[in-house]
Amino acid sequence: MKINIAIDGPSAAGKSTIAKILAKELGYAHLDTGAMYRCVGYYALQQKINIDDEEALVHMMEYMQISFDADGNVYINDQDVSKEIRQNEISMVASKVSAFPKVRKHLVRLQQEMAKDKGYIMDGRDIGTIVLPDAELKIYMVASVNARAKRRYKEYLEKHIEADYDVIFKDIEQRDYQDMNRKTSPLCKAKDAIELDTSDMTIEEVVSAIHKLMKEKL
Ligand code: C5P
Repeated sequence: MKINIAIDGPSAAGKSTIAKILAKELGYAHLDTGAMYRCVGYYALQQKINIDDEEALVHMMEYMQISFDADGNVYINDQDVSKEIRQNEISMVASKVSAFPKVRKHLVRLQQEMAKDKGYIMDGRDIGTIVLPDAELKIYMVASVNARAKRRYKEYLEKHIEADYDVIFKDIEQRDYQDMNRKTSPLCKAKDAIELDTSDMTIEEVVSAIHKLMKEKL
């Protein structure tokens, strides 16, 4: 029997990495909802849309198709933007545009349409609370800012993306603040979510902890 798994938590807590591995092992589909907010921010900059103008962003989204392939690459109107949307500058823009209720409404609808059936692992900020409130397993993944900044820095270097540790650290702190304090769907733990602090855990340990939780749920 397939279930839906929601993984929420602050930026760089390892949500997408873990979700990707789990999806492969379980034969589930993975949806990285952060990538969708990143696409909106990236495309707005490209199209020279004012990122403080909610109506302009909503209008832009009507002409913008976001899609994923089986390897997790991300496309805007068939253009592969997987690498571009990962830039640090785009993280901040994504966090800004994600605060607009109409932007969220549009993307949440798309996410819910994509995961109509069971067998999805979705990661983001509002999956357990808003997007998939009836997900059978909800994980709230946290880690210290230091651990998260180190991981993100390493990830950037591996992907040959220019990176500065201090900038990443400050950006994570600022994004935590923005994501937790916005009016619409702020990042928070769903009542029935299980908190997992991954600061001192390896990827393998986190994956195995979630497998164990899944077994308990089933
Ligand atoms: O997960 P990631 O860091 O790629 O997400 C980028 C930004 O998109 C986050 O900082 C957050 O503001 C926003 N986001 C969101 N809701 C989601 C996923 C991401 O608000 N479900």
